[in-house]
Amino acid sequence: MTVNLLDFDLEGLAAFCEGLGEKRFRATQLFRWIHQRGASQFDEMSDLAKSLREKLKASAHIEALPVLSQHISSDGTVKWLFDVHGGNAIESVFIPEDDRGTLCISSQAGCAVACRFCSTGHQGFSRNLTVGEIVSQLWFAEHFLRRHLKRQDRVISNVVMMGMGEPLQNFTALVPALRVMLDDHAYGLSRRRVTVSTSGVVPMIDRLGQDCPVALAVSLHAPNDALRDNLVPLNKKYPIAELVAACVRYLKVAPRDFITFEYCMLSGVNDSEGHALELVKLVRAQSSAGNWCKFNLIPFNPFPASGLLRSPHAVVLAFAKILNAAGIVTTIRKTRGDDIDAACGQLAGEVMDRTNIQSRLSKRGTIEIRPENAMAPFGSKDTIND
Ligand code: SF4
Repeated sequence: MTVNLLDFDLEGLAAFCEGLGEKRFRATQLFRWIHQRGASQFDEMSDLAKSLREKLKASAHIEALPVLSQHISSDGTVKWLFDVHGGNAIESVFIPEDDRGTLCISSQAGCAVACRFCSTGHQGFSRNLTVGEIVSQLWFAEHFLRRHLKRQDRVISNVVMMGMGEPLQNFTALVPALRVMLDDHAYGLSRRRVTVSTSGVVPMIDRLGQDCPVALAVSLHAPNDALRDNLVPLNKKYPIAELVAACVRYLKVAPRDFITFEYCMLSGVNDSEGHALELVKLVRAQSSAGNWCKFNLIPFNPFPASGLLRSPHAVVLAFAKILNAAGIVTTIRKTRGDDIDAACGQLAGEVMDRTNIQSRLSKRGTIEIRPENAMAPFGSKDTIND
């Protein structure tokens, strides 16, 4: 069995090359071919010696996850469903905007945190993704989009780890994958443009700060422990005071001077004026200026098993007004890709019926790209507010 080179950061690839009796610098050439040029065949790598290419052919391969489906929304959002075997699938979503292209990627098949408002959480946890499975989402999306848009330059400028899974519960794969994203010989993304989103795994927030500080987003969703215990069960282990303290520690090493708090607006649950005022108090307890964090209010995407409803827009606006008036920068996320179920919390929609995926695989082979969508032109009518 050969090794998938998408599993390596540059250091790992250098060690692999040394194992083949090659100089470490060959790894840099190889890394560039893979990630900057999207090469998947060693014969394409014309500046590598033929003897090295032969060794690589015998011991390695470069292979993205099989695509189960691809959907392109009328607003330009693209969603891929990837097969991660064993009846599991994960999703990645590309969101084009005027000034950036953001890829939202998954870190786990399913999720153990079981947030009440999240359809991924409702399907349970299957397994951690490998480094290669995380990197594969970026590798595939970047090079597909370049070909599709006929662009030579980079299409994806931002990565958010906000897809399926809790990234900090898959830390050993997360960090090498982040290093590939940041490496100048690969995607060269700025630390400010790579965001890890966590539901609040406090010790691992500290580890991330030590090992690979990138932008941090925290799924808060409630201003007090009683409510957060109910919405984000991990809060029982790491309550809000500990979470906020970890955020403040993280700021010392973070590439941005603020933490983003994600707050899913749930009608009649966490969206009252009283909740907004509690948040103001929570933020100001750390700093009276309130400028160490930003809030991103997310319209909930209802799904039947949740028993929850989206807050009316007027309620969301009123909530944002209270936070903004207190000096806390607050934005409201515009929903994207509604016609393809691409929005947060819907990522697992197609995955939940695993039998369906297995039968698709067995009946049709590994790929089902819907032809009516596969070559649709991109548009960028809407923008996200954050
Ligand atoms: S919101 Fe994130 S942490 Fe919570 S269940 Fe969903 S994927 Fe897991």
